[in-house]
Amino acid sequence: MLRLLDLVYKKRDGHTLSKEEIQFFVDGVTNDKFPDYQIVALLMAIYFRGLNPRETSDLTMAMAASGEQMDLSAIDGLKLDKHSTGGVGDKCTLIVVPIVASLGLKMAKLSGRGLGFTGGTIDKLESISGLTCDLDTETFMKQVREINLVVAGQTANLCPCDKRLYALRDVSATVDNESLIAASVMSKKIAGGADKILLDITCGSGAFMKDLASARSLAKLMVEIGKLVNREVRCLITNMNEPLGVAVGNRIEVEEACEVLQNRGPEDTREVCKNLAAHLLSMNNFSDDFNVCLQAVETQLANGKAYQKFIEFLQAQHAIIHNNKPVFRENAKYKRSVLAPKNGYIVKLQADKIGLAAQALGGGRIEKEDIIESACGIMLYKKVGDYVEAGTCIADILYNDEEKFNRALNFYNEALCISDTKVEHEDIILDIVR
Ligand code: URA
Repeated sequence: MLRLLDLVYKKRDGHTLSKEEIQFFVDGVTNDKFPDYQIVALLMAIYFRGLNPRETSDLTMAMAASGEQMDLSAIDGLKLDKHSTGGVGDKCTLIVVPIVASLGLKMAKLSGRGLGFTGGTIDKLESISGLTCDLDTETFMKQVREINLVVAGQTANLCPCDKRLYALRDVSATVDNESLIAASVMSKKIAGGADKILLDITCGSGAFMKDLASARSLAKLMVEIGKLVNREVRCLITNMNEPLGVAVGNRIEVEEACEVLQNRGPEDTREVCKNLAAHLLSMNNFSDDFNVCLQAVETQLANGKAYQKFIEFLQAQHAIIHNNKPVFRENAKYKRSVLAPKNGYIVKLQADKIGLAAQALGGGRIEKEDIIESACGIMLYKKVGDYVEAGTCIADILYNDEEKFNRALNFYNEALCISDTKVEHEDIILDIVR
C-alpha cells in the first residue's frame, strides 16, 4: 500500500511523481489522512527538487477537483477574476475590482488570507466592522448578479487541499516555489469558475519571485495551465522591490484604497491599479484600444462611481458604513514617528523587511492560528528616490505593544538605506505575459 513517506523519499531523492501518486497526496491532504509533519516534509522536498510541468499541472488539476467547483454559468456574460501573488502594501484588489464592476464587469473574486510577510485581501477587508467574507455559494452568486462584485474567502468546500497546504507552507518556509505557487493560485482560479483570469505577479524583494526571470517563468507556467482548461490568463509583472503605496497594514491599506478610489492617493498604487483595471476591461472586450480602457478607468475614479461601487459592495457584505466611509473594528493604541537619521536620498526601502516589520506588529501571521492586529502597521511617507532631512518624519508606526514596536523598528531600520547619491524611481510595471 502506498504511503506518503514513500513519496517523500522519492521526491527527496530527485524522482518524478506519477499522476496517481499526486492524486494520492491531494486526497490524503484533503481528507486529513496525513500528519502535518509528513506533508511539510514532502513540501520541502518539492521546494528543493521542484516539480516538472506535467507534475505541476497534475497537482493543479487534482487540487482544483479536491472540493466543490463553482459553476458561474447562471450569471450572464464573461466572469473575470483577478489575483495577485502577494506583496507588501499590495491593496490592489480592493481598488481594481470596484473600478471594473462600476463599468459593468462581473467580478467573482475569491481571495486568501495573509501568507508569509505579505498581507491577504480577506485580512484587510476584515478590519472593517461587521464585514464578512464567509459567503455560501448562493449568496456569492446572487451578489455578482445584483451588484457585479463579490469578494469571498475560500470556503471550506473550495480547494480544501490548497487551504491546508497554504496554511502549512506559510509556517514551514515552503511558499516561494514556482510550482507550488502556480498550483495554489491556478487551482483556486479554476475551481472558482471565472472565464478569464488576470494575474498580478509581483517581483522583487517583497515578493515570492525575486527577479524578473523567475517572475516571467511563473507567468508562463500559469498561462500554460490556463490553456489546458480553456481559460484566458494574462499576467502583469509588477515591481515589489519597495512596498506599494504608503500604507502597509490591514486597516490602513483599506484607508489607502478608499483614497485611491476617490481619485487621490499615492502615484505608484494608482498606476498599478489603473493598469490592472484597464487590462481587465480589455480582456472583457471593452475596447481593442488599451488607451480607451485606461481612459474609462480614469473616468470612474474621477466621477466617484468606483468609490460608490466599493461602498455598495462593503454594505452588501454587511460592513458598517458611516458618512459614506467604512467603520473599522480596531484602532491602534499608539503611534510613533520614525525620524530620518541623516540628510540624503532614500536609495532603498526593502519591501521584505517592511513586510516583516508589519508582521512583527501583529499585522501578519507567524503561526497559522495567530490573530491579526488589524489596525497596526506602518505609514511610509518617504520612499525610494525621495530626499530627506535629518530629524524629519519619514514614517509612522502604529502599534499596540512596545516589544512588537521595537522589533518592527529594527526591521524598518534594516530596510532603509539613505545615501548622498540620488537614484531614479524604478519602473512599476515590468512586463505583460499572455
Ligand atoms: N497566492 C496564492 O494563492 N498561493 C500562493 O502559493 C502564493 C500566492
